[in-house]
Amino acid sequence: MLGATGSIGRQTLDVISRAPERYQATVLTAGSKVEDLIDQCRKFKPRLAIIADDTKYEQLRDALSPLGIETASGAEALKSAAAADDVDTVVTATVGYSGLEPTIAAIRAGKDIALANKETLVVAGALINQLLKDSPSRIYPVDSEHSAIYQCLQGEKPEAVKRLLITASGGPFRTWSKEDIEKATVENALKHPNWHMGAKITIDSATMMNKAFELIEAHWLFDLPHAEVKPVVHPQSIVHSMVEFVDGAIKAQLGTPDMRLPIAYALGETRRDDLGLPHLSIADMAELTFMEPDYDKFPCLGLAKYAMERGGNTACVINAANEIAVAAFLGRKIRFTDIYATIMTTLERAPFIALPDYDAYVATNTEARAIALEIIDSLEQPR
Ligand code: NAD
Ligand code: MG
Repeated sequence: MLGATGSIGRQTLDVISRAPERYQATVLTAGSKVEDLIDQCRKFKPRLAIIADDTKYEQLRDALSPLGIETASGAEALKSAAAADDVDTVVTATVGYSGLEPTIAAIRAGKDIALANKETLVVAGALINQLLKDSPSRIYPVDSEHSAIYQCLQGEKPEAVKRLLITASGGPFRTWSKEDIEKATVENALKHPNWHMGAKITIDSATMMNKAFELIEAHWLFDLPHAEVKPVVHPQSIVHSMVEFVDGAIKAQLGTPDMRLPIAYALGETRRDDLGLPHLSIADMAELTFMEPDYDKFPCLGLAKYAMERGGNTACVINAANEIAVAAFLGRKIRFTDIYATIMTTLERAPFIALPDYDAYVATNTEARAIALEIIDSLEQPR
């Protein structure tokens, strides 16, 4: 588990604790929350625990070596853990670009992937799909929309699919005016109506960048080049996504908005078990509404189409600039609407690479981050 202490990581451990006869967490990793990682290791007794932040290593080792749990730190350790012999499935639950390298290592080692880290596919979807061709690895989506589509596609022929309809709650600013969105604070943006998630994805949901990323994620995940991928606003987050077929039929997957459901489906590799997770009641389904998204109020959403049409390293640039801008917004250095502005200016300045290889993605990520930081430094309105 890459990112065991985060929102997806903790919920994955909850699923594992409900089926201990089937699942064993052999490796738990975290970025810097060493105390949380130690607590999780006491409970789940993995073989190995890894902390990305080297400065926390001694604390981890001193707490876990008496329990006979191996410890390590740093990016290299994460990479080799993703390829370890006693690992069948790698759960990628880290946030942002950091998911790319260990995911590649896991695919090279033939591991299955329960993929929460959508940024991996946003940044380098073409490369990941290329690697998958020469590997027995399969990707099971954890993102609720992609899990829904995966479920709707079971038993269907690819050529029968006309459209993937990715639902979006619309985030906390769905009903706000454009003028009010310009004044949105960090607290406003962190108040997601339906989901409790890590801070970065919560801000991405408020800008709807998250939905743009999910459109790109769907493009790479489902090999359906002829099918249109379309966002649909659905404020209740009960219908997790839909597939429209050539005969006019639409299949939808519904469920309570609880990430443990798609996590369990991914870990079970499409097998369904009663893990005692919450079910929907008819009352929960009493009002389901759907509407077109507002690209004018949420310009980040339009970046998906731009990134797919321009191709190459475009989405990698967008992702890097977005990560820097979201961190700056959370640090109260820029305004909410500066997130989009920073991405656009970074796109203008970052070199375009039509056919990037792995090294080109790494270079693009480094360069686009530096450009975005420069742009943010030149904005003079800390909040
Ligand atoms: P989070 O911020 O709650 O957790 C991130 C985890 O990654 C933490 O355990 C952190 O310690 C670890 N981490 C951070 N940097 C790291 C690094 N450099 N190396 C190793 N570990 C590192 O994030 P989250 O909300 O759980 O989201 C994780 C991923 O899942 C994201 O890509 C997000 O888009 C995706 N996702 C999340 C949800 C959700 O409901 N939270 C839903 C769908 C998809
Ligand atoms: Mg999602």
